[in-house]
Amino acid sequence: MDAIALEQQVCAANYAPLPIMLSHGEGVWLTDTSGVKRLDMMSGYSAVSLGHGHPRILKVLSEQARKLAVTSRAFHCEPLGPFLEKLCAVSGQDMALPMNTGAEAVETAIKAARRWGYRVKGIARDQAEIIVAAGNFHGRTTTIVGFSSEDSYRDGFGPFAPGFVTVPFGDSAAVEAAITPRTAAIMIEPIQGEAGIVMPPAGYLKRLRELCDRHNVLLILDEIQSGLGRTGRWFAHQHEGIRADGLIVGKALGGGVYPVSAFLASRDVMRLFEPGSHGSTFGGNALAAAIGLESLKIIEEERLVQRSAEQGAHMKQRLAAMTRGIARDVRGAGLWIGVDIDPAAGSAKALVKALASAGVLTKETHETVIRFAPPLTISRAELDWGLDRCEAVFAAFGGQRRASAA
Ligand code: PLP
Repeated sequence: MDAIALEQQVCAANYAPLPIMLSHGEGVWLTDTSGVKRLDMMSGYSAVSLGHGHPRILKVLSEQARKLAVTSRAFHCEPLGPFLEKLCAVSGQDMALPMNTGAEAVETAIKAARRWGYRVKGIARDQAEIIVAAGNFHGRTTTIVGFSSEDSYRDGFGPFAPGFVTVPFGDSAAVEAAITPRTAAIMIEPIQGEAGIVMPPAGYLKRLRELCDRHNVLLILDEIQSGLGRTGRWFAHQHEGIRADGLIVGKALGGGVYPVSAFLASRDVMRLFEPGSHGSTFGGNALAAAIGLESLKIIEEERLVQRSAEQGAHMKQRLAAMTRGIARDVRGAGLWIGVDIDPAAGSAKALVKALASAGVLTKETHETVIRFAPPLTISRAELDWGLDRCEAVFAAFGGQRRASAA
């Protein structure tokens, strides 16, 4: 039995991977078992922003694993303080609660918002509400899919937790209309990733900030996918110069090798967690903390935030030019671009397959959007290599070639 068939026999079919069996990754390149090398332009849903096997991450991974890895937080471990100190410094928050996966950090944010609602705002017991946006993606726990607007995420998994109110994304008037004395928080993605890299109108986050201040509501931003340089700023909300009351990070924090996430907030919010109120066996372990700290240092020292802004502008401009005639929209920020394909030109899935055959790995989201999110470490030459291949594929579907390449 070949390896793909074996996997299909024993692994739940909750994903539909392309029939490519990857065997190793280095930098922005992924090689399959037959030796074919392709450019990674989706970075493990943005978890691999530092590229595959970053030498500094591998060094910390092996050194810390040999020294001390998992002890649980029943004891202290040396790397945790420096890691969270750095994370607070880059995010402008006071304190952090370390978790592993994104969904766990989102659950942590929900708990924090509710406790704050009861203990600080004075909402009656079990009455707290959190306003969320239609089209959201915050993970896969039953509570989280319970407030998803996507049927396939919910179907057959109810009953769901109450306490969430959904409003259209990007519509601050709808948020204001939904706020009641029971509202503890608004929790949104500054840019909706899984929905298709959907950008809110300019000024949306600023208006949410004002609403939260006026109505005594927490503004919680899920930057699991948009954070850590992906959009050309450390965090996407910094494009609007606002402050979040709670910030959720994950994915790239694990350096592409380990699940590391966190919920960050002010001291006033974080003090609502006392011993016994929340936890995770693996959250904040020495290995995770050492990798998290090194990831942040790499982002800073390799100027990956600035590089994301510069390379991203180039990528967006080229993708927009080459998909003229077949794309309805090319949107995004930094090295995070969604190309919304006109269904008349072809399906996003068909294009993703053609791109993979041409040497570029990417991923469609919903039926029409192809997401481009290469590692932030990508060089201009590597990016142009990939974009040249994209151009040839899009041209075959009716897109335009650059005059010089025609
Ligand atoms: N929040 C956002 C914005 C995400 O994009 C994701 C994953 O794609 C999650 C939460 C869930 O993260 P995880 O899959 O690590 O649980």
